[in-house]
Amino acid sequence: MRILILGAGFGGLELAARLSEEIGSTAEITVIDEKPGFVFGFSKLDVMFGKRTAESVFHSYGAIEKPGVRFVQTTVRSIDPGRKSVVTDSGQFDADRLVLALGADLDPSATPGLVEFGHEFYTVPGAFALRDVLESFDGGNVVIGVTSTPFKCPPAPSETALLMHDYLTRTGHRSKSTISLVMPLGVPIPPSPGASAALLEAFDQRGIDWHPERTVTALDGDRKVAVLNGGETLPFDLFLGIPVHKAPSVVLESGLTVDGWIPVNPRTLETEFPGVYAVGDVTSVGTPKAGVFAEGQASIVADQIIAESRNQSSARSYEGRGICYLEFGAGMVATVDVTFLSGAAPVGEIQGPSTELAASKAEFGSSRIMRWFDRDWSQTIASE
Ligand SMILES: Cc1cc2nc3c(=O)[nH]c(=O)nc-3n(C[C@H](O)[C@H](O)[C@H](O)COP(=O)(O)OP(=O)(O)OC[C@H]3O[C@@H](n4cnc5c(N)ncnc54)[C@H](O)[C@@H]3O)c2cc1C
Repeated sequence: MRILILGAGFGGLELAARLSEEIGSTAEITVIDEKPGFVFGFSKLDVMFGKRTAESVFHSYGAIEKPGVRFVQTTVRSIDPGRKSVVTDSGQFDADRLVLALGADLDPSATPGLVEFGHEFYTVPGAFALRDVLESFDGGNVVIGVTSTPFKCPPAPSETALLMHDYLTRTGHRSKSTISLVMPLGVPIPPSPGASAALLEAFDQRGIDWHPERTVTALDGDRKVAVLNGGETLPFDLFLGIPVHKAPSVVLESGLTVDGWIPVNPRTLETEFPGVYAVGDVTSVGTPKAGVFAEGQASIVADQIIAESRNQSSARSYEGRGICYLEFGAGMVATVDVTFLSGAAPVGEIQGPSTELAASKAEFGSSRIMRWFDRDWSQTIASE
């Protein structure tokens, strides 16, 4: 069976690893990504706030040596879901099973003034560049703002505000700074009243201004203010934005999207085209755009492809469960365990924050790097 995986992020890497383990000796698994390697979303915050180096959080795709898996670094230019065929800068690829795991693209230029007067920390280059920006920042009004919905990892802006408090405290600039957080949600984590209450209390204790049900529509560079969708303005000396998200243009042009994202069968992740699946941020499956959900979806698709390759059918179906780690600063991490597609309203239980859960988050990351790259990352993390 020829299996073509587009995108080697959270979803694509998990799928490739599972398929290789189970059917790597018989299947031909091709993974395509335009980037040279993988960086966890949470590693962007680690680099930006000086906790880790850019080198230590980069995992080269060149290191993947898994039975049956071939990685090709190239850009996908067009997708024909009916034929399960794609055209890339390195030629055409045809498959028996096609899986789209191409994530969400970011468009900072969609928000007037963001590129000229602000910064974004959702891309790897944006987050890594902020490390130097923060080093030379000597205090002032900091605004962290979401520009539109949907956006990846809904807890990340809250985590950034808490980590910014720690950073400015460490560098001695907190007393001459304000931190404002602008979010489109009514509470920080809507499915988890407990996590939302804990975050709002943490903001309160640290003097972080919380602006719910708002987005940032523009930055006015002359007045140095962020303009919110209610018409209010917030003065800023340092603006960190969460840019507009959209499906990659090659996906939008494939005819697979409805309202900007790929609809899938929520139980099987199959698109309207038989044998063509989509997982992760590129879908509108109904879970938040986060790596843990992309991973869970990839696991379901893996089960189906493995079963079909053995002329069987898979009994497992997707439930939309994910356990998200939540940085509270000061080395403390909490978890929120939420299930989205059970039929009932999602309810998330919070555990922590604690230093034990911070260790569990490190283990979560290094276990994935071991599974996906056969590389021991734990020593690197421990030594930094
Ligand atoms: C600051 C931050 C913190 C985060 N923290 C967490 C966290 O703690 N936990 C968590 O679960 N999630 C977190 N996330 C979210 C997480 O990173 C994403 O939701 C997750 O990576 C989505 O996985 P994916 O497989 O759908 O897409 P991605 O991981 O984005 O992978 C998509 C891949 O497709 C490739 N691609 C796109 N277009 C093309 C093309 N045309 N040709 C070739 N290749 C292409 C890209 O290069 C990319 O490698 C965070 C995100 C951010 C920004």
